[in-house]
Amino acid sequence: MSKPKVAIFDFACCEGCQLQIVNMEEELLDLLTVIDPVQWREGMSDQSDEYDIAIIEGSITREEDEEPLKLIRQRAKILIALGACATIGGINKLKDAFDLDDVKKTVYGEAAGMPHLATAPVKAVHEVVKVDYDVHGCPIDGKEFSYILRCLLAGRKPAIPRYPVCVECKLRENACCYEFGKLCLGPIIRAGCGALCPSNGFHCFGCRGYVEDPNVNAAKEVMEQYGKTVEDLREKMQLFGTRQEFTL
Ligand code: SF4
Ligand code: SF4
Ligand code: SF4
Repeated sequence: MSKPKVAIFDFACCEGCQLQIVNMEEELLDLLTVIDPVQWREGMSDQSDEYDIAIIEGSITREEDEEPLKLIRQRAKILIALGACATIGGINKLKDAFDLDDVKKTVYGEAAGMPHLATAPVKAVHEVVKVDYDVHGCPIDGKEFSYILRCLLAGRKPAIPRYPVCVECKLRENACCYEFGKLCLGPIIRAGCGALCPSNGFHCFGCRGYVEDPNVNAAKEVMEQYGKTVEDLREKMQLFGTRQEFTL
């Protein structure tokens, strides 16, 4: 049986999620026994437009990038969004909190008016084309990426946690950030990272996106209990672009 052809594409991003794939090392070699990469700018020089699975890293920050993404969608049987930039807009969505002309002037100075420096409100991949599977995180976890890909190849639906980061944080017996006066997005963000940030002295920044069906009343109670407001929570959600989806 021939191996499925896989192509990896990047739009606006730091390419750190692709780097996580490169960093998989031996696990990547194992993965190459079951997939056939045909296009991957960061990992190979060959390029083919015939692929079964397209993996998209990055978000769409220019109107001219929508057509190439739609063409990729037409060609691929399965499309996977890779990392927070692709799944939720990610850090790029910070830009949308400011006037876009001001953003351009700040970044490009006097060159900001040049036509090739066009910019637009940031879109996650699913805001432009249908996405079949998400690999969450900033950056992604190579093991989770491998697990999701192997599930697809085996015809199984990958099991991505539908509960918040707090569950994993409690399982790791961490002291809660709120006890130290810090605000943490753990109650409303999708688990799966093993509560990485709270386990290392930080709050959850929200890189895995808003958990489905969150217990918003519990989140409100936590805010009240620790003298925080819902607006404080929204402010923290600005970093990874989850604020727009948040309807508390
Ligand atoms: S999700 Fe994070 S690591 Fe991945 S490309 Fe975007 S900014 Fe880079
Ligand atoms: S530190 Fe954050 S993730 Fe951990 S229990 Fe507290 S709110 Fe939840
Ligand atoms: S704790 Fe939050 S910000 Fe940190 S990796 Fe997990 S989901 Fe991302």
